Amino acid sequence: MLSYNRHKMQGLDRTLARLASIPNLAVWREAPLSRYTRFGIGGPAAALVEASTEEAFLGALVEARSSGFEWAVIGAGTNLIAADAGFRGIVLRYLGNRIRRHGRCVSAQAGAELEALVGFAIDAGLRGLETMAGIPGSVGAAVYGNAGAYGRSVSDSLVEVRFFDGSSVRALDNAGCQFEYRGSIFKKQKGWVILEAQFALEPAEPAELRRTASEILAVRSRKYPPEMRCAGSIFKNLFFERLPPAVAAQVPAEIVREGKVPAAWFLEQVGAKGLSRGDIRVADYHANLVYNAGAGTAADLCALIEELKRRVRARFGIELEEEVQYLGIQPPALG
Ligand SMILES: Cc1cc2nc3c(=O)[nH]c(=O)nc-3n(C[C@H](O)[C@H](O)[C@H](O)COP(=O)(O)OP(=O)(O)OC[C@H]3O[C@@H](n4cnc5c(N)ncnc54)[C@H](O)[C@@H]3O)c2cc1C
Repeated sequence: MLSYNRHKMQGLDRTLARLASIPNLAVWREAPLSRYTRFGIGGPAAALVEASTEEAFLGALVEARSSGFEWAVIGAGTNLIAADAGFRGIVLRYLGNRIRRHGRCVSAQAGAELEALVGFAIDAGLRGLETMAGIPGSVGAAVYGNAGAYGRSVSDSLVEVRFFDGSSVRALDNAGCQFEYRGSIFKKQKGWVILEAQFALEPAEPAELRRTASEILAVRSRKYPPEMRCAGSIFKNLFFERLPPAVAAQVPAEIVREGKVPAAWFLEQVGAKGLSRGDIRVADYHANLVYNAGAGTAADLCALIEELKRRVRARFGIELEEEVQYLGIQPPALG
């Protein structure tokens, strides 16, 4: 066992030495993932790599893929539960954050903050992204998860994504991305990595766009105080039409929005508000909001998620599906 571990360490040393030789790349060993997730949870990554240029990022991806170690790309960690034991592989972050305008289109590198892209489009007098004001995280992850709020999602204005498929850089148009509610082809093709996205927008008065964004921001900052260590909604909402008829009959019509029933409604019915496990709590004002109130752990977070799923399944016979993503953890399965 000792020699196996030594062999692995030597393999990691060699991989990290090759990574360190790539310009515009920073490499850390045993990087605490708690610093890279908004939950503030997660043990060390064997290696964490940050690339500030696309060339460096591609070089690091090629190296990580051929190293024999597990690897994962993360953004700002605002939708991520990382294991308490960490991740015994290579975690990559892309910091390329250039945002450019071409007529009515705006393109952003995957490492740009979604909020910066939204602000850029507003200042440029381009409508289409302003309802996403206040959604934290990177552009890459927003495409991956088809992020959205207040009636619009990334998929409503995206025209092209450039990505790395493991052997070459390719582009997909909107249809090729196979967008769905909080999903895209990138959630299924785990080895594909988003590099840049382009959005087609409509001309509008910046003052009007700014007004919309600031009204939304005011609501959001009451719901999600900036210091709250959470991932936004833990579970996806549910399509009303896909519910079993007996369940649909119990749902009050006024809570159905854009054809979806908030997961929070089901969670409320099973007494989720205020539930806790260790330092992990369900907000007492929002049943789909789970946060770390202190020294919370991934083990407690996963146990609470499992408990919430079990309660909803027992009462309604339906499965809640996580919006949040896992790193170094198998999604909790219902027993
Ligand atoms: C307070 C709060 C409010 C939120 N509100 C909303 C909301 O209204 N609407 C909404 O949609 N979301 C919301 N979220 C969730 C979160 O903001 C989004 O999911 C966001 O897109 C995550 O971005 P990130 O960079 O932090 O991704 P991370 O959490 O770092 O990663 C999420 C996933 O994206 C993948 N990923 C990251 N970068 C890439 C890439 N370049 N290529 C391929 N895959 C990649 C990762 O592997 C991971 O699986 C909220 C979160 C918080 C904390």
